[in-house]
Amino acid sequence: MKDPFTGKDIIIIGAGIGGLSTGILLLLLGYRVTIVEKNRKPGGLMRSYLRRGVDCPVGVHYVGALGPSEPLGKMFRVLGISVEDLFYPMGSAGVVDRYLFDDFVFDLPVGMDAYERNLRQACPAQGAALDILMKSLREISGQMMDSSFFLSQTDPFKNIDLLRPMGELLDDLQVSARLRAVLAVPCQLIGVELDECPVIFHHMVAAGYLFSSWRLKEDGGKMADIFAQRFTALGGELILNSAVRKINLSSRKVKGISLEAGDELFADAVVAAIHPKTMLGLLDQGALRNSLRERILTLEETKGVIAVQAGVDAAMHGELDYNIYRLHHDERGGITDGIFYQIRKSNVSETNLLSIIARSLYRDWNRWESTVSGRRGADYEEKKLAIGQDLLKKAEEVFGPLKNAEILDVFTPLTLRDYVNCPEGSCYGVLRSARQLLKIASLNNLSVEGLCLAGQNAIAPGVMGSILGSFNAVRLLIGTRRFNGGLSRLL
Ligand SMILES: Cc1cc2nc3c(=O)[nH]c(=O)nc-3n(C[C@H](O)[C@H](O)[C@H](O)COP(=O)(O)OP(=O)(O)OC[C@H]3O[C@@H](n4cnc5c(N)ncnc54)[C@H](O)[C@@H]3O)c2cc1C
Repeated sequence: MKDPFTGKDIIIIGAGIGGLSTGILLLLLGYRVTIVEKNRKPGGLMRSYLRRGVDCPVGVHYVGALGPSEPLGKMFRVLGISVEDLFYPMGSAGVVDRYLFDDFVFDLPVGMDAYERNLRQACPAQGAALDILMKSLREISGQMMDSSFFLSQTDPFKNIDLLRPMGELLDDLQVSARLRAVLAVPCQLIGVELDECPVIFHHMVAAGYLFSSWRLKEDGGKMADIFAQRFTALGGELILNSAVRKINLSSRKVKGISLEAGDELFADAVVAAIHPKTMLGLLDQGALRNSLRERILTLEETKGVIAVQAGVDAAMHGELDYNIYRLHHDERGGITDGIFYQIRKSNVSETNLLSIIARSLYRDWNRWESTVSGRRGADYEEKKLAIGQDLLKKAEEVFGPLKNAEILDVFTPLTLRDYVNCPEGSCYGVLRSARQLLKIASLNNLSVEGLCLAGQNAIAPGVMGSILGSFNAVRLLIGTRRFNGGLSRLL
């Protein structure tokens, strides 16, 4: 984007957490905002869904850094969303995540000091490497506590040493396979392999959950509705069940959008809170510079997942206040296989919900690439169910025999692709690998007046990353001076 735009009317494409938080912020700063969402309900990946009466999560299993002085907690405060109404803190017994490896167990606790203690206990011969790693992790977590972190996210990215791959840093420090495997898990949470994950992203994710970790008190549907209600209560217009077909420009300047249904809406600016490739599909061929177009088209995606939602007997399988990762690593410490488990109370009596998430490649589903959700055929359903049953069996290796276990739903990369328009069903949007950082940086300068990206593809994925992306989008759109002036009133 060349200059901050001077208009008042803004259209946001997509009512995921990225679009809704951008919309709320813009309304608070005095703009007129309309959000257009293709689905019948707002929320995108944050929204949960019902199967046999049980509420099943999609993209919010736990969230870090929501404490009042922590970065996401502060951003919620600016947006006027109550953390306490939606979330409760995890880790009452001192564990947030339990990593089960073949040869050892590692507990991710709350708090940096407890984390350092656990690392030193698990890897006693790694003292020198841990001195260096913990120093830089503490530095980043210190920066994240400062409001400048979400006012101007470019700051932590200025230190070139933090942009190198975590794998390279660990090679230099000659860390053990065990330490490498433990440190690989935060990278997995944004879909990047440790060998490729920029140090800054590893540290941001790890620090986020170490500040404090939270689960939803109820469900993602309520979270989505609270964000949407806040947006409309501030005067925003939310148009649901309407896909955007085109972003209209005139001489590299935004004019508005056209809907699939044919209507045209005018605006001074458009925020695309969607995947960059999806945005590209809404623009005329020559709208962006050829080089930028090429860069977006060739962006590599984060991998897909398959998720199983299963009901289990609540009396036998009580809610666990922590998540479990069952992981395997190679001799070097690279994670070869990982499965996420969460057991939570459900809204149906006598049933608790076991959510299982495992890696699943888009290409493994390419037979059904041209089909749409709900109409993929019996062979697709069979394959999905067979993998689901296999994952449920594997879960018994962790939890023992599962009483009254019943698969409620299985979703695949194709489900996510069709649900929110993410190419290849990419779980966390574009891959934030060190080798893609330059390409990704160009997404912050689309060179079209009044057009920018928000949400998980702008800065980083996850609830924290997506909201950071929204703050960044607003800053880019209205200019740093107006943004800082407006934010200082809201903080
Ligand atoms: C399985 C899974 C588990 C996850 N677990 C966690 C977790 O525990 N914690 C965490 O912090 N993060 C988690 N995440 C990541 C987190 O959910 C996402 O980073 C975040 O929700 C992305 O929000 P977004 O607004 O950027 O995108 P989305 O939620 O994808 O929103 C984009 C919206 O745009 C709409 N749209 C697309 N195209 C159009 C169009 N042409 N016209 C109109 N509307 C359109 C879509 O329908 C969608 O509603 C998880 C993600 C997945 C997939």
